[in-house]
Amino acid sequence: MTTRLFKGAEYLITEVNKDEIFTPEDFTDEQKQIGNTTEQFVLNEVLPLRDEIENHNFDKVVELMNKCGELGLLMIDAPEEYGGLELDKATSMLVAERISHSGSFSVAFSAHTGIGTLPLVYYGTPAQKEQYLGRIISGEWVAAYCLTEPGSGSDALGALATATLSEDGKYYLLNGTKQFITNGSFANLYTVFAKIDREHFTAFLVERTTEGLSVGPEEKKLGIKGSSTTQIILDNAKVPVENLLGEIGKGHKIAFNVLNVGRFKLGAAVTGAAKHALVTGIKYANERKQFGVPIASFGAIREKISDMTAGIFAAESLVYRLAGLIDDRLATISKETPDYYDAYQQGIEEYSIECAIAKVFCSEILADVVDEVVQIHGGYGFIQEYPAEGFYRDERINRIFEGTNEINRLLIPGIILRRSMKGEIPLQKEAMKAFEALMTPSFVELDDADPFAREKALLTGLKQAFLIIAGSGVQKYMDAIKDEQELLLAAADMAINIFAIESAMLRAEKMLPTLSGAKQANAIAAVRVFTFNAAEKTATAARKAAFFIEEGDNLTMILAGIRRFTKYDASGLLQAKRTLADAASASEKYIF
Ligand SMILES: Cc1cc2nc3c(=O)[nH]c(=O)nc-3n(C[C@H](O)[C@H](O)[C@H](O)COP(=O)(O)OP(=O)(O)OC[C@H]3O[C@@H](n4cnc5c(N)ncnc54)[C@H](O)[C@@H]3O)c2cc1C
Repeated sequence: MTTRLFKGAEYLITEVNKDEIFTPEDFTDEQKQIGNTTEQFVLNEVLPLRDEIENHNFDKVVELMNKCGELGLLMIDAPEEYGGLELDKATSMLVAERISHSGSFSVAFSAHTGIGTLPLVYYGTPAQKEQYLGRIISGEWVAAYCLTEPGSGSDALGALATATLSEDGKYYLLNGTKQFITNGSFANLYTVFAKIDREHFTAFLVERTTEGLSVGPEEKKLGIKGSSTTQIILDNAKVPVENLLGEIGKGHKIAFNVLNVGRFKLGAAVTGAAKHALVTGIKYANERKQFGVPIASFGAIREKISDMTAGIFAAESLVYRLAGLIDDRLATISKETPDYYDAYQQGIEEYSIECAIAKVFCSEILADVVDEVVQIHGGYGFIQEYPAEGFYRDERINRIFEGTNEINRLLIPGIILRRSMKGEIPLQKEAMKAFEALMTPSFVELDDADPFAREKALLTGLKQAFLIIAGSGVQKYMDAIKDEQELLLAAADMAINIFAIESAMLRAEKMLPTLSGAKQANAIAAVRVFTFNAAEKTATAARKAAFFIEEGDNLTMILAGIRRFTKYDASGLLQAKRTLADAASASEKYIF
């Protein structure tokens, strides 16, 4: 537990202390043990079946899901009264991270435990949970989530599937086609969204054996080939009225709240996948010789290894900080609270901005990592026999599902502005202060004794730069800012990188007293390397946004402010990169 209960996006307007964040170093023995069980399961049970799974032997996937059930891995988020473990989100994310080494299987696992199971957990009636939850968390049944349609993906509420009450009032007749459904071909229970009377968007629990439900052929995909992706076709599918989930017309709440969870878990999962790819890249670089020496000795390769390590350190710091934020808030909600799951959902929704950040940031770190791991492999990176080729293909989907990265980026400033208008975040007041700072020349004296003094000064500046951009944007466009997507995307990039830099820096600061000299140097190096890269991106996004918003003297003034507020003294950067690369190459591990 940390001490202060933060509001969503509050990090943008306040200083955060190292002791106020959760980090992977805070895991309890129980959490570590669950993480290890997951890892052993992947190594011993899933990886030996990799080729069979990639060749669509889905019986093996179902068997493995059963084994996950026996190990308790499917019941982490399920309530105790229905046989679940009801553990915290940090544990749930650790499992998502560790299972990710299993490639395609992890997609089946995530869809089942996340979007497949959670609608029932959060919105099911006691009777519905009694009927289905036990079978789902034991792995006897597999679950799937059917929101997307051929004509509606990002615009999920534009769905055309309909639900019509039968004349005898006993059934809803569902009609329509659901597209790209993970676990489609072997799931036993589908959460299906359809509009009652073509108007009221509503969720239903639909059994596979339902009359009128059929499964389309497997999609042939670029990556994650061992996961099942099919259409689910509903032709007067006869669903008992008791299987309506939640309330009529409130399906959007289910769809979107469950996606928040999907997003932070995806953040954890892709961070795990990035670690795995990194280690493969490091080992190859040590083995492969050119010009008589291992390629790992070349600065070009060392720089890749250090940038990847630092990026993953930031991703890991960010996702587990988010786990802590959510867990701290959920811990304040008593199980006796009437409408417990409403309060619980609101607790998670508070951090919908950070959930979107985790999804975008971590999936793009994985994208950078797999790209560089292919490059480290040279021509062999392009050849199927080597794992880098599979990492590269499997990565791509993460920037598309659980809301595309564009949609998630747009959500970030969108929610910030909405909350600011409702008075929940004092954005305008803080923006005014940032404008005052812009007008006032200042000299920041750094504390030489603080290894992160430069990063702290930078973060103060970056937050001011964000406030100036957000404030100027709102001043210029008012309500119409929601249509200025290019500007919103740039603002999102600033908010994302600020959260990432701060998470990495605070974690390293918290770790430092517990580390020996060399490990301290690695942690400081990771922060320096990552901060330099992310500060450059933030500065570019800020400048771009300034050009989108202003012109003339105002533009000149804002650009000067951005220059001041994004200034980062990265002295020692080259040494930091080499320190990090050498430590990673020597240990052939992700070193944190
Ligand atoms: C392998 C796989 C598994 C999947 N699993 C599931 C599942 O289990 N259940 C499920 O329901 N769905 C699933 N999906 C669907 C997935 O969530 C959607 O593909 C995704 O949400 C994008 O929708 P779309 O494909 O229709 O793209 P579109 O929405 O058509 O988007 C196309 C492009 O336009 C951009 N765009 C769209 N709208 C906007 C906007 N308003 N502003 C700016 N840019 C915009 C997008 O970012 C994207 O770049 C899966 C998809 C795949 C490929």
